[in-house]
This record gives sequence, C-alpha cells and structure tokens, in this order.
Amino acid sequence: MQSLEAELETARSLAVSELADAIESIGFECTRCGACCKADDDDPHTATIFPDEIRDIQQTHEYDWRDVARPMPYGLDDGAGETFEWAIQTTGCGDCSFYVEKDGVGACSIHDDRPLICQTYPFSVALGGTSQPMGEAVDQAGMVRAHECEGLGRDISREEAEALAAALKERAIRELEEAIGVRDNYTGTTPDDGDIVVHDSEGAKQGDGTPVDR
Ligand code: SF4
Repeated sequence: MQSLEAELETARSLAVSELADAIESIGFECTRCGACCKADDDDPHTATIFPDEIRDIQQTHEYDWRDVARPMPYGLDDGAGETFEWAIQTTGCGDCSFYVEKDGVGACSIHDDRPLICQTYPFSVALGGTSQPMGEAVDQAGMVRAHECEGLGRDISREEAEALAAALKERAIRELEEAIGVRDNYTGTTPDDGDIVVHDSEGAKQGDGTPVDR
C-alpha cells in the first residue's frame, strides 16, 4: 500500500478534465430523492465532515458544534471510547439534521455550505486513504468510482461534470491531509470511563468539539 503522502501527491496531480470525462461517461443527475441524506432503514445517516467545515457551518448559520457534528460512531462502544472522525449530526430518527422535505421533495437547508462529501455524492476517487461510501462501488471509470444512487446513468452537462470533478479532487486532497493530520497529531489521550475522545487532525477533542484539557 502507498504511503498517505504518496496518495496525497497523486490526488494533487489528478486532472480535473479527466475526472470530468469519467463523471460524464458514468452520468449523473440528482433526483432529490433524499436517499443520501436520510437514515437507511435502522442505520442512521453517517457521513464524514472535516473540522473546518463544521466551524464554517457553525459560523454561517449560528449553530453550536453539536448541532453540526457528532463523533463518528464507528469503533465506539455504547457511545463511549475513541474515534477518529466527525460525522454530520443526525436527528432522533437518524436523518441528517439539515435535511428538510416538502411535498415529498427533499432539500438541504445548508445547500450552499454543505460539506464536500455531500457535494460529491455518489462519487469517490479510487485512492487509498480516501473515504468510500458504504457498500461496493457499482461503476468505475478511470479514477472515479460511483456508488449506489438512483441518479446514476443520467445525462450531465460538461459544466456540471467539471464542477463536480473539481470538488471531488478537492475532497480527495482534504481527506488525505486530514488522515495525515490525525496520524501526526495523535496524542494518545484516552477517554475517561463512559466518555469519548475524538482524535481529529487538530488533536484530541471532546464530543462538543472543545480540546481535551489534560
Ligand atoms: S448536509 Fe445537506 S446534502 Fe449533506 S446529508 Fe445533510 S441534507 Fe444532505
């Protein structure tokens, strides 16, 4: 497996026009079904959000950290333990907190400020150290993988494909930078019994996003 630094170099050298070619050949148009923003049966919506994306949404929309994000649940035991990412906050029924539905049509209440993972769904880049949506890819063209979504296979304009490709490249770079930051800034801080520590690229934090102070 390549080092994270080597994968980051590859991500930085990706040609947006080639990613756009791949997206065009797969095809995509959002149908606004809301499937990527809602709970999947009993599984709550789970999508990664970067610390600075949380702060940007907080500041723009006057939210608290916990309104925007929760500790990534993978690896936690009954909500306690150590985790290495943040996930977009969910409602009591497991949908994304920012998902709204009107007359059966879904919308994002923070659309212009939505995280990169949302801007680029259902695509990912085939590079180690980047995040892949749950489940196997259903299609791949060049370096672009496509994941389950009813909007795949539909025509997309060149302009939209290029915008999506640029966001996809940016996301891959940011994911790798975040992974390197998590590795380099890991303090080894362990949570107290029944508590939680999130080790992100900025160090060890509590569930409300404040640094662990010890
Ligand atoms: S932030 Fe917006 S686009 Fe992203 S999952 Fe939530 S509702 Fe959907």
